[in-house]
Amino acid sequence: MRVLILGGIGEAVKLARLLAPRHDVIYSVAGKGRAPELDCAVRVGGFGGGEGLGDFLREKGVDLLLDATHPYAAQISRNAAQAAERARIPLWAYRRPAWRPEPTDDWREVADWPAMRAALASFRRPFFTIGLEPLQHLSEIPSRQRWLVRCLAATPPDTPNLTLLRATGPFGVEEELKLLRDFRIDVLVAKNSGGSAVEGKLLAARRLGLAVVMLERPVLPASGRHFSDVECLSAALDAGTFD
Ligand code: NAP
Repeated sequence: MRVLILGGIGEAVKLARLLAPRHDVIYSVAGKGRAPELDCAVRVGGFGGGEGLGDFLREKGVDLLLDATHPYAAQISRNAAQAAERARIPLWAYRRPAWRPEPTDDWREVADWPAMRAALASFRRPFFTIGLEPLQHLSEIPSRQRWLVRCLAATPPDTPNLTLLRATGPFGVEEELKLLRDFRIDVLVAKNSGGSAVEGKLLAARRLGLAVVMLERPVLPASGRHFSDVECLSAALDAGTFD
């Protein structure tokens, strides 16, 4: 069976490794990070929206589309739903389970940037771990706040009250504790990405009793079947029932 995996997270790579020995797998990434080394075809770069992806599925004779993208990569998931419909093939999804707060955690869930700003108003030293978005709002840094922003890649702007850290995870809990202490962080700003690779910051915030402002997950389109475990997904695919 020919399967296109829309990837970009560790579990998608694992899925490709599980499926490649028995299926004709194409693994696709956006191309912002390093492409993984796999024993299957690896495609780097966008398709040109849902239409372009639909055309690709038809041209390559793909039998099943697997959306195993990051929980916040909502556009590619929408494209996948549209493309599978265009190409009349089933769409399955791997959805990484979200992190859950412990009873003593102080998590404040927000839907968007304005709500996040409001939730941060009473803090002085927020640590942003939500990608590049804070860099689009540097003119909004209140004079009493100092922002620490960690992201994959960005040119450090010459802005007062900002420290930019360019770094790629995983980050261990001890490393995160040190960072929180060194920068005297009083609130962590995060996406609910799930998984273990970047969970260290939440464990560190819990140890220090820090508040966490959590950007809610986007709503993703429905898929024919969805899984929260890659082994289950692989087994279901091997069983060959893919409606
Ligand atoms: P997005 O907004 O869903 O996708 C933007 C465009 O990138 C898509 O329309 C598509 O371009 C291309 N694209 C995304 N994933 C692709 C894939 N697997 N194969 C081929 N093309 C792909 O996603 P994003 O802009 O990458 O990220 C949105 C949020 O998710 C960010 O917060 C980011 O930090 C987080 N995130 C994303 C990834 C990832 O691998 N995408 C990994 C970790 C975290 P076309 O329309 O041209 O096809």
